[in-house]
Amino acid sequence: MVRQLQRKDYTVGWICALALEFAAAEDLLDTEHPKFPQVSGEPTFRYKVGCIGSHNIVIACLPAGRTGTTSALSVAQQVRLVFTSIQYILMVGIGGGVPNTKNNLRLGDVVFSQPDGAHGGVVQYGFGKDVPGGFQQTGHLSAPPEYLLNTLQELKIRHRKKEFGFRGHLSKLTEPGSPFARPDAASDVFFEAAYSHVDSNDAVGCVECAQEKRRNRDRWQTRTGDVQVHFGTIASDNRLMRDGERRDEISKKLGGILCFEMEAAGLMNHFPCLVIRGISDYSDSHKSDDWQAYAAATAASSAKEFLLLMPPVAS
Ligand SMILES: [Zn+2]
Repeated sequence: MVRQLQRKDYTVGWICALALEFAAAEDLLDTEHPKFPQVSGEPTFRYKVGCIGSHNIVIACLPAGRTGTTSALSVAQQVRLVFTSIQYILMVGIGGGVPNTKNNLRLGDVVFSQPDGAHGGVVQYGFGKDVPGGFQQTGHLSAPPEYLLNTLQELKIRHRKKEFGFRGHLSKLTEPGSPFARPDAASDVFFEAAYSHVDSNDAVGCVECAQEKRRNRDRWQTRTGDVQVHFGTIASDNRLMRDGERRDEISKKLGGILCFEMEAAGLMNHFPCLVIRGISDYSDSHKSDDWQAYAAATAASSAKEFLLLMPPVAS
């Protein structure tokens, strides 16, 4: 007989900003558990409980239209208030990529936050002070604890051996007809940083944009499969990045970043936290929503791969 679980049995928080990210996450639960009755006075965030492998998980979503660092922190705090044994948080969803010849990052790829010499894995790029001659970035966001980074290392070792655990989860999520199916590869187009999107009232996507302004990526770093997983710095702040030149400028200033997102900076100094982002656009003015669902699915599949490698953390 299955023991009735209590709130204190849940040790992993999985936070999503968008409805489609939440939908991908709940589809990947091994088993869904019944919700707990609402206790008077408790916060009323949107969540689902279930398990993946040996982990009991709370998947929570930010309120509609409330993305950003403050909202992420607020929901994470509510999750931990109600589920007091939560040991760490995975922030999982989509992000805007920063491709270059070396990373050859494409739509649908996945980025894990990983510390390097200078940064803890996530940088709040807009936090700082205006000084004579420009802007000086200040502040420091904490790196994930070693127990999360040890599992990240394990995942990287497996990828070196061409064992990509996410692929099985992804293929289940993206079966033909699924809302998470992979868009046509032809719609993955990367333009020169300085070339802005040509907007036309009746045109969809980049049909009015100049073909000769596309970057030819044939001779960039060789890729392994449709979805490649990258590890490095993620830039986070409350604003949406939609400018190719500014994107590259910030990346250069920070010593190379892999993607932009809008929630992680709210969490890193408050929770043990790892960030997992599927790339749905290139952080420029050509941004469209076509790849969002698939990118949410690749991120969620990678989060599941990570959890299946993660030993249980004692509460
Ligand atoms: Zn365009």
